[in-house]
Parts: sequence; C-alpha cells; structure tokens
Amino acid sequence: MDMDRTYILDTTKKIDDQVLIKGWVDTKRDHGKLTFIDLRDKSGIVQCVGYQKMGELTVESVVEIVGVVKARPEKMINPNIATGTVEIDVQEYRVLNKAQELPLPIDTNGLELSEEVRLRYRYLDLRRQRMQKIIRMRSEYFHAMREALIKRDFVDIETPLLTKSTMEGARDFLVPSRFQPGKFYALPQSPQQYKQLLMTAGFEKYFQIAKCLRDEDLRADRGFEFTQMDIEMSFVERADVMRTVEEVVKESVKAVGGKLKFEDFPIIPYDEAISKYGADKFDLRTDEEKREGVLAFAWVVDFPFFKKVDRKDAAEVRDGKSGWTFTHNPFSAPLPEYAEDLLKGENIANIRTSQYDLVLNGYEAGGGSIRAHSAEMLEATYEVMGYTKEETERSVGHMLEAFRMGTPPHGGIALGLDRHVMILAGEDSLKEAIAFPMSSTGRTAVMDAPSEVSAEQLKELGLEVIEED
Ligand code: ASP
Repeated sequence: MDMDRTYILDTTKKIDDQVLIKGWVDTKRDHGKLTFIDLRDKSGIVQCVGYQKMGELTVESVVEIVGVVKARPEKMINPNIATGTVEIDVQEYRVLNKAQELPLPIDTNGLELSEEVRLRYRYLDLRRQRMQKIIRMRSEYFHAMREALIKRDFVDIETPLLTKSTMEGARDFLVPSRFQPGKFYALPQSPQQYKQLLMTAGFEKYFQIAKCLRDEDLRADRGFEFTQMDIEMSFVERADVMRTVEEVVKESVKAVGGKLKFEDFPIIPYDEAISKYGADKFDLRTDEEKREGVLAFAWVVDFPFFKKVDRKDAAEVRDGKSGWTFTHNPFSAPLPEYAEDLLKGENIANIRTSQYDLVLNGYEAGGGSIRAHSAEMLEATYEVMGYTKEETERSVGHMLEAFRMGTPPHGGIALGLDRHVMILAGEDSLKEAIAFPMSSTGRTAVMDAPSEVSAEQLKELGLEVIEED
C-alpha cells in the first residue's frame, strides 16, 4: 500500500479521495454481507464500511485500510464524533497485528476496575479515552511550562541521579556501588543541592523537570517517585520568585484550558492559615466552583523554620539531633529579621523561614525558599539541629565550600507536577496523572519489580540478603 497515511481526523477534508488509514479496530458490527468497523488512531475515530466479511478482524487488532472517503447523507450524520460527516468505503485492508481478546474493557472510564488489573495491563488501560486525554494534557502542560521558563531566560539543566543523600526529610533509596563494595549512592530526593551549585556556577536561572525519589510510606496521593518542576534563581528575593512562578503557572494553566479563581494568588501567612483553616493547605473554592473545576491557587508564607522532632519519624530523629529539626528545608534562609537569632541560635521556636508554599484546591502544589547563601548561615542552621562542626562539614561541607567561593543570593521552588496534572484533569488519585505509576503496595506497573536478583549480582556488589523469619 504505497500511499501516504492520512490521520483519521483529516479524512473529513478528503471527501471522494482514496485514503490510507491505520489504527486499531475500536468496534466491529457484522450486518450480513456488510461489516462496520470503527477505526481509531491518535487523532480520532471513523466509521468504515466493508462490503466483505472481515472475519479475522478482531476488536483492538491493528489494521491498515485503503478506502474512499464518502460524505454521509444529512440524516446519517453522527454529531457525536468529529468525523461524523463521513465514512470510509473499504477497498482493501491488511491486518498488521491481530489482537486476542483483551483482559479488561477499555471503552469505559476504567475507574470501575481494580488497580491491580489496570496497572498490570497499563498499556491497554492507557488506550482508554480518559487516560489518553490526561496523558496528552500532561504533555501540553509541561510544554507550556518549559516555554514560559525558556522565554524568561531560564536554562534547562540535568543533574545526576546517582548522588549523595540530600536531607529532604525522607528516607533515601540507596544504590550499591559495584566498584566500591560496601558504599552506596543515594537517589535524589530532589536536585536541591545541585541546583544551588548551578547558582554558584553562574547560570542565574535554572529549571529542570526532575524525577525525585523518596522512600516514604505510600499513600493514595504519594508514590516513591514523582516529577517536579525544579526552579532556582539568583539575585532574587522572596517576592521575585513568587511573582515569576505565579506568572509561569498561570500561563501554563491557561494553555491547557484551566480556569483560575484568582488572577493574583492570595498570600496568606502561616499563622492566619492555621487559625482560619486549621491547616497550611486549604481549599478556597465555593461549592459551585468545585463543580466547575476551578483552580484556586494561593501562597502560604512565614512558616516557622524549626519544629520539635517527632520521635516516631526516623528521618526527623536522624536530622534533628538537638530535638529541633527543619520544617521544610535546611538550606532555606530565615526571613531577614530573624537572621540574627539564627546566627546566635536564640529564640529558635520563634524564627520564621523564607519558605513559600503554593496551595491548590486543598493540596500542596509546590514549595520553595530563599536559601542561605553564606556558609555561616547554613552552619548556624545545622548547629540549631545539634550538629557539631565536624558533622556539618561531613554532611554539607561541599556546600559550605561553594558558598565561600562567590555564591550569589538565590532562591527557588519545586512544583509537584503530578499533582498539578491530577487536579487539572479533575481526578483525585495521582496514579491517574502518571503513565506508569507504582501500585499502592509499591510494585511497578506492568513489570514485576521489586524482584529478586541473582546470587552473582549480589556477590559482585558485596551484598548478602538476610532472610527474615
Ligand atoms: N527541594 C525542595 C523540595 O523538593 C523544593 C525547593 O525548596 O526548591 O521539596
């Protein structure tokens, strides 16, 4: 079939032409000698009429069809599909891959199915219209965000995946080193330190769509890995970062047709949020706006820098040796009026951080801060958490060193993009916003991980698995 392929949506512009279309058999109806097929590709779906029995054509088989595009008579027009004004008279067809019966329906929204079945056959689950729409919207949203940042002179820079523990307040995923048995890399909980070092390096405006990995307890809206828009800027104050991020978010939301409640995001101090809403994330929509899928973004600022360690939280106990640990990010600077207190280690409970959180419809949609860019300030933060000079040096000595070699004032943010997509799509599980999410029990979609490895692999890594009884 030596013709150019026509996408199904474009057939409406080719009345009476012969076309070659390719796709999946969405539905098939036998009417005696006539066979009706709805053929589906990435652009749409079209009815094809075959004057032959097409017995071997099973639903979801991949086929190519050569046929003539016919205008449908007025009363036969199907207003429910974009190609409802035409149908294809099949002249020839070829099966490119015959499909066996699928283990799950894909013509529903899928929410009636178990997570196990949906994730085991995620490549089929993704064929359904709802998932196609979400994943394509995710791509458009990411594109819009990249465009908004590039337009503002940001540079897209990758940072390593095999790295060192970053103190983001969660447990690390560790990767054993084969070359140095007994030593481990940590997968990044975020690119926090590398993005700050890029400010030392003089890039001034950085972004990255970054994968972050945190070995935390799983929840409906939290997986082991997530995607964030990671941003850092030099020579800025809190208001500069918030303004830039707000502009970028608004442009991107509008690019995918999202409706904003506020053109200027309200800025709410932490104390006010707690007294008014009882939490630092809240939903500012009215009931009607909830039904309309409106997006209510807001900022929360003036958080306490430190909190008392929760003894049940292993990461907090590890980080907060003195009984104090950071509420958000140890690399943050305090608000300027608290700098003295932090440097002296006084009035700890009182110190406020430059942290700003972006809240959306009751969820945390991002967070960042102006950073400590002097070695003294970062050292003071670690001292409050009970680190000796040596311990601080061991943990963040490389940052202190960089700070002493011309690191400009800087700050940034990370936006939880999976959550943005989930909310934009009107879904309430993060898994609906991710092509291949992990199951609630921490297993990978389609592939069977985590799984055992061979004795040779373990030996090479100098590891031994101790069976628990
Ligand atoms: N690194 C922080 C996080 O991932 C965000 C930031 O402060 O930029 O939560």
